[in-house]
Amino acid sequence: MAARILQGIAVSAGVSVGKAFFLNRRRFDLIPRQTVAQDLAPFEEERLRLAFELTQADMAAARDKVPAELKEHAAIINTHLAICKDPKLLNKALKTVREMGITAEWALEKAVDEIGEAFSAIEDPYIRERYQDVQVVADRIQSRLMGQGKIGDIKAIRNRAVLLAHDLTPADTIGIEVSKIMSLATEMGGKTSHTGILARSLQIPALVGVTDLEEHVMDGQLVIIDGLKGRLIVDPDEEELAYYSDLKYQFEDYQASIIRDCSLPGETLDGYRVEVLANIELFEEVTAALDSGAEGVGLYRTEYSFLNRRELPSEEELFEEYSEMASIMHPRTVVFRTLDVGGDKILKDWNLPGEPNPALGLRAIRFCLKHRDLFIRQLRAILRASEFGNIAVMFPMISGLKEVREAKALWQRARQELRAEGRRIAQDIPLGIMVELPSAVMIAESLAREVDFFSIGTNDLIQYSLGIDRTNKHVSYLYQPLHPSVVRSIKQVVDAAHQVGIEVAVCGEVASDPYCVPILMGMQVDALSIAPQAIPGIKRVIRQTTMDECKGLLKHVLESDTVGAINRHVKDAIFKRSPEELTFYSSILDMDEG
Ligand code: PEP
Ligand code: MG
Repeated sequence: MAARILQGIAVSAGVSVGKAFFLNRRRFDLIPRQTVAQDLAPFEEERLRLAFELTQADMAAARDKVPAELKEHAAIINTHLAICKDPKLLNKALKTVREMGITAEWALEKAVDEIGEAFSAIEDPYIRERYQDVQVVADRIQSRLMGQGKIGDIKAIRNRAVLLAHDLTPADTIGIEVSKIMSLATEMGGKTSHTGILARSLQIPALVGVTDLEEHVMDGQLVIIDGLKGRLIVDPDEEELAYYSDLKYQFEDYQASIIRDCSLPGETLDGYRVEVLANIELFEEVTAALDSGAEGVGLYRTEYSFLNRRELPSEEELFEEYSEMASIMHPRTVVFRTLDVGGDKILKDWNLPGEPNPALGLRAIRFCLKHRDLFIRQLRAILRASEFGNIAVMFPMISGLKEVREAKALWQRARQELRAEGRRIAQDIPLGIMVELPSAVMIAESLAREVDFFSIGTNDLIQYSLGIDRTNKHVSYLYQPLHPSVVRSIKQVVDAAHQVGIEVAVCGEVASDPYCVPILMGMQVDALSIAPQAIPGIKRVIRQTTMDECKGLLKHVLESDTVGAINRHVKDAIFKRSPEELTFYSSILDMDEG
């Protein structure tokens, strides 16, 4: 019996109701052997046709890449291509869908079995064995059907659908055509995985880490994505549909109400101001940032324009992008975070050896210090975009002084090169680092003397402090933004920065959590940098509180030893002030009290 309510992790708020479209499933043994409603049979037929077409295209492309000296190999592919083009297999499968009212996958399996029986009656062993070729072709079509395909296969979607997948890489996610997707859910992924972050940028409700998603949902089934409480409901009944359409309206009303005041400053009732900045991943989000009241861009994740492309961008292309961004945001500041690839963000065709543990591997500044030409290319583009005088730069994943000094030396080198070429660049460009490793927390004061500002990346700080892979749903329950070690680490960094006299922002997801914001305020952070979508709500939380309250809350929190005690304090204190924000956005509301 299929489970009706599947639990996942809500990573992008909102509610949506629509038909499921599976982009990729992980397991072949999960062939959905199920019947489908009569009106869905044409959809299954269409999927079959598309899977055949795509398999033929794959095979033709593979054959064309075979070097001339491997003619035999090309001949085998041609045989397979001929089987795939022969209408018999497709027609048999289509007929089975129509007559039996079953899924495309199951129909294909039955059609192949039938052909297998016919082959087994053939006496000539050579011909009999040719059945293996049919099976090879059928497997490829099956894997296409089960969505082991590419994001481009979304073209199969006719009406806007709920995109489901075993997993989506950040590169996949940026390839999504938002006009065809109303929401998304994946079986893999954790609370702060980049896929979730991107879904928020795309402003579509999203869940990750949905248990047994592949087993319990079929293409074309009606599903509800509850991006507030992290639930996926399969085949909802009338009551559920009514409840969720109501919730959808409430959420949309709430959104509309907060957007009205979004251009007001992030200022507490007693006059303490914190800058509220935007985190953006894609250039197109600049408009969303401005529309939602961002006072600047506090984190531009520049690596996204390096993903999903065959050739890496040239200095000229980067310069165009960066200077356009600076000019649109002017006079507000844009903080360019230098390339943070590695981990779950892989550069296509870069031929990097697979790493056994990518989160602990050649990521971010480590990658850039190893591939200096690429790093310099980016630094030059950023420097050249500085003529408006409103940019800043920061290096990600700094673990110690040596890395900062090396990065700064390369920055100087790029600057000198440009000067020698007679280019115009700004005099003073603030240089900062992301504090996101426990080692950087411990030596924050020394690091603060090296740079102009800090930005605390709590997503990674939590990942590395609590030892939980951001992309792994099995340990997502341990994601505790108010774990005493996390709160104390952030406080230590803020104090160190202020001691030395530099500013400090927080740019991880914690900064957009209504529960965590008052605590960060109590520490007197200078800026919060968050997804544009979250800005209006967070400004409202700030504007509904006082610095005295925030400091009082922080004191209690710092005196508590357990996550449970901290969460209780926070819930009691904040709920009085901002009940709506907490209903709609909160990471600790449903959290275990440990
Ligand atoms: C972080 O680690 O908190 C952060 C903001 O950077 P990213 O999520 O891109 O790693
Ligand atoms: Mg990070």
